[in-house]
Amino acid sequence: MNKKIATPTVTRKILADYQIKLSKSLGQNFLIDGNIIDKIVNIAGIEQGDQVIEIGPGIGSLTQVLLEKIDGSLFAIEKDARMVGVLEELFQDEKLKLIHRDVLDINWPEFFNQHDLINKRVKVIANLPYYITTPIIMALLEARVPVQSYVFMVQKEVAERMVAKPGGKDYGALSIAVQYYTRPEIAHIVPPTVFIPQPDVYSAIIKLETYKEAPVHLEDEGFFFQIVQAIFQQRRKNLKNSLSKAANMKLDKGLVEKCLKDLGFKEGIRGEALNLDQIAELANLIYKRMGDKVN
Ligand code: SAM
Repeated sequence: MNKKIATPTVTRKILADYQIKLSKSLGQNFLIDGNIIDKIVNIAGIEQGDQVIEIGPGIGSLTQVLLEKIDGSLFAIEKDARMVGVLEELFQDEKLKLIHRDVLDINWPEFFNQHDLINKRVKVIANLPYYITTPIIMALLEARVPVQSYVFMVQKEVAERMVAKPGGKDYGALSIAVQYYTRPEIAHIVPPTVFIPQPDVYSAIIKLETYKEAPVHLEDEGFFFQIVQAIFQQRRKNLKNSLSKAANMKLDKGLVEKCLKDLGFKEGIRGEALNLDQIAELANLIYKRMGDKVN
């Protein structure tokens, strides 16, 4: 394919030629603006030897530019068989490894082993299907696979939640998880007009740079994330109540109260006011004292 796919004319022609009607339920909003594609690729900062994973290539508007830029492999994971058919015909490039699968079914550590990606520099780049943005990102982060950075097109509101700091309505479990594993930065706000069909929302290009070392020390990562869940599931409650009433944890109210007091938190403070360091400190103290009680 020599012509740029990311134009309204070429995209419409490919869809007409293959008699494809785009599916709303698969989040198929295709990019038709080459400048935005270039922005995504530039923000990703492709270097020699990079291996790239693209989620949801569609008819290949971003794939095409990525293939021009990389010298490693491009693993493109697509659920819709119709798109896989188009990509197979449009691209004859050995660097492109097409994978016809639901991305949510992928076991990432296995995937990295199978494709010999463990000791390579890997970047994940995608215009994500918005209906599963959070599960895709959380599965990748929690798998702790060695990805150097992620560049995603996501709904603007979701990007704002990922970078949110304590105090506002956007701050929640997603902010904590993303900021524990990575340094997130919104790089560009994108209007609906650069997609076919146009989504109802604004979008944002976000870059997540993975930390080599976690920004906070955790005694137990699983326990920390249970605390995070407890805090934000009942975010209107004060910290003492949200923690001691969290169904998933069965924490002793006296122990929680003592920990909060010893860390100098004000009576009645809500969990949503705490930053990542403070939540980590609190989770670590409760975890240690629970251990002391058992032993
Ligand atoms: N990359 C193309 C572009 O920028 O124009 C298409 C992006 S479109 C927003 C999202 C793509 O993800 C679609 O091609 C859709 O078929 C694919 N997709 C949706 N759900 C998926 C899933 N569960 N697993 C893999 N791909 C999926």
